[in-house]
Amino acid sequence: MNRKASQVERADFATVEVRQIYAELAQRPIERQCLRRTECCHFKLTRLTPYLTKGEALVAARALRASGRKGLPESPEGTCPMLDRASGNCLIYADRPFGCRTHFCAAAGGPLARREVLDFIRRLEVIDAQLGGDGPRKLPAAIKAALGEYF
Ligand code: SF4
Repeated sequence: MNRKASQVERADFATVEVRQIYAELAQRPIERQCLRRTECCHFKLTRLTPYLTKGEALVAARALRASGRKGLPESPEGTCPMLDRASGNCLIYADRPFGCRTHFCAAAGGPLARREVLDFIRRLEVIDAQLGGDGPRKLPAAIKAALGEYF
């Protein structure tokens, strides 16, 4: 198998694995519920920016491309580039990163403790290493890098 083919195979495998982690997280009996208020998507206000492992960034980049967009959308400083300015909704909600699923705002029940999801974090770290990543990066930079590497 040539290098390009093995890179595609690894990326496909990682995509399946990351989505499996998201699905398992959703099955866990945790008393939190995202109400899609999108408050957490305004990083400047919350002073929190999600960090993505490489597998999460790949899945987000794929979802963004599937929405018909080729590059990272322009966004006001301190706002997530995945937040659609026209609709006010997340462009990749079904494939949103792990941090967006666990750092719940107060209205949704508050953030999960790291120990509650440590097993998932470890699996995401393994996928990161398998893809040649060097650890989590801030959301905008992580997705931009994935778009550049895989598309
Ligand atoms: S990826 Fe979606 S849910 Fe996560 S911060 Fe960005 S707009 Fe919000």
